[in-house]
Amino acid sequence: MSLQSFLSTSVRKVFGSLTHVVTPSAVLALTFDDGPDPENTPKVLALLEKYQARGTFFVVGQAAAVQPALVQRIAAGGHAIGIHSWDHRAFPGLTSRERRRQIRECERALRPYVSPLFRPPYGEQTVMSRLEAFMMGYEVVGWNLNSGDWYESQSSVMGKYLLEMVSPGGIVLFHDTLYDKGTPAHGTDSEHTSWPDRQAMLDALETMLDRLSGSYRFVTVPELLQAGRPRRSFWFKPSLATA
Ligand SMILES: [Zn+2]
Repeated sequence: MSLQSFLSTSVRKVFGSLTHVVTPSAVLALTFDDGPDPENTPKVLALLEKYQARGTFFVVGQAAAVQPALVQRIAAGGHAIGIHSWDHRAFPGLTSRERRRQIRECERALRPYVSPLFRPPYGEQTVMSRLEAFMMGYEVVGWNLNSGDWYESQSSVMGKYLLEMVSPGGIVLFHDTLYDKGTPAHGTDSEHTSWPDRQAMLDALETMLDRLSGSYRFVTVPELLQAGRPRRSFWFKPSLATA
């Protein structure tokens, strides 16, 4: 490895966000944000179990703290659990102290099941907030395939899109619930209003599992990292959400 590529890899490890891995194996990491949710998380778990798939759940601490049995059930299914903040506020608008508290409190609610993985609420972060996550020992996990499940209400559209765009080593973004129900824009796509009903997402997820489970292995993010060379991008977004 040349000095230049070593430096580039090191800088990306500190400041980059994981989007996918480069791998010859047909593996995929399905990720589910904003839970746990008493109604929909069990439905996602049942689908994953039916297809012997594993996923990664980026959990909101405040919701996890009141549903320890559901958190335990996610872990018992062999899935990975990462941090999605304490109460889903956009990080760019918070102080460093508050951001660290958001991660620590969520971590506490998820012990002993938590993996050192963090997905910022709305995918929004600054250079500083990324650095803080690194200092706290966290890998920041983005995605390279977005189901659009907070605004897409038709499972056929969502399922078709996912099947067309999927590629080995990818990380797919889903939401097992929407933490900010009724917020005009979940995420930074302000053209769309949010669609809290999860049935379209559940149907699209089942389509994906059904069509791909013969050819793909659905793994957790830690397993994905073992399966190929990580690709991290400089993923900085100003806050567009009202926190
Ligand atoms: Zn979220």
